[in-house]
Amino acid sequence: MTTGQSASPVRQDGVKRSRRSLEPKAPLNGGGDTPAERPEFFTERVDAGLPKLPHVALATLGGTVTMARIDQAPGALPVLDADQLVAAVPGLDGLAKLTTATLASLPSASLHRSLLAHTLRWAQERIEAGARGVVLLQGTDTIEETAYWFGLHWRHAEPLVVTGAMRLSDAAGADGPANLLGAVAVALDPASRQRGVLVVFNDEIHACRWVQKMDSISTAAFASPGIGPLGRVVEGRPRFHHPPAELPRPLPPPQREVRVARLDVGLDDDGALLDVVAQSGFEGLLVAGYGAGHVPQTWVSRLERLAGSMPVVVAGRPGCGPTLAATYRFAGGEIDLRERGIQMAGWLSPAKARVLLRALLAAGIARGRLAEFWSPHAEP
Ligand code: ASP
Repeated sequence: MTTGQSASPVRQDGVKRSRRSLEPKAPLNGGGDTPAERPEFFTERVDAGLPKLPHVALATLGGTVTMARIDQAPGALPVLDADQLVAAVPGLDGLAKLTTATLASLPSASLHRSLLAHTLRWAQERIEAGARGVVLLQGTDTIEETAYWFGLHWRHAEPLVVTGAMRLSDAAGADGPANLLGAVAVALDPASRQRGVLVVFNDEIHACRWVQKMDSISTAAFASPGIGPLGRVVEGRPRFHHPPAELPRPLPPPQREVRVARLDVGLDDDGALLDVVAQSGFEGLLVAGYGAGHVPQTWVSRLERLAGSMPVVVAGRPGCGPTLAATYRFAGGEIDLRERGIQMAGWLSPAKARVLLRALLAAGIARGRLAEFWSPHAEP
């Protein structure tokens, strides 16, 4: 393992620290797409020691795992960098040779496309430079979307493993170090190859395609509803329940920015917001519909009009189980919606269906081929 000379360990004991010792090494925004936009705060550092250990690359984007309270002010901020996080993990010594990078220090609600694209390139370059796997630490609030987005584009056999923490780094029983250790153990293990992007949390290993945040504060916040985890971390090693499954072909990198709106159905909602979507420059719409993908009858004519000008996808609000294709014919049921040119999301949750729609459009997939490209992603 490697730790930075300048890193100060994350204190677990609640002892007050000075702002100086926790001063972030990165500004509070993200990287850009072009060389000119590349972050100046890129802090990659590779240790030359311990050549026999497998090489794992680790980057932080921010989130609770990097957050602490400073100077007795109320509330926590993302202040820790990758080296500080690594230095706080007992047991990493002797496990891997780490390349660390602090790519951003953001709460995960503020992660954005250009930073994700930059992070993807960084991770790919690390694999091409010989890393056995990559670990990304970020806020848990958006892991189900970011991990899925990385998974749509990941084209390596080596794993990209995403994790974070539910408890602040200075909380009693902080879960960040255990999650980081589990993620590194999964990233370096040959059994993790060919499985795409994984989320390791609370010693469970989830496929990026199914994982969802199910609890706002529990350290067991993540699950893959209806599908279950791919495996668990046991005595420091991943144990997968099944051999790797075939994954959809990776999408080309995004070519451009695409705005996709999301609307959730609500009881007795007249759908007037659909008019706002129509007039606001969106290129696609994701509807989180009722049950297996249904909307109120008051929505259908507006939805049909919208579907004439942009792709409209309807997912099921429960977030578990598939949308249907051929059961209900009532106005706003799936047969009716499909006849009006609307794409059903299949097994994808509304959040993941929006990520997929955006990624397909950003990859330049023509509207007429949307259904063809959608279906390999929509089945378990
Ligand atoms: N509660 C969040 C977290 O886990 C905050 C965020 O997503 O950044 O990290």
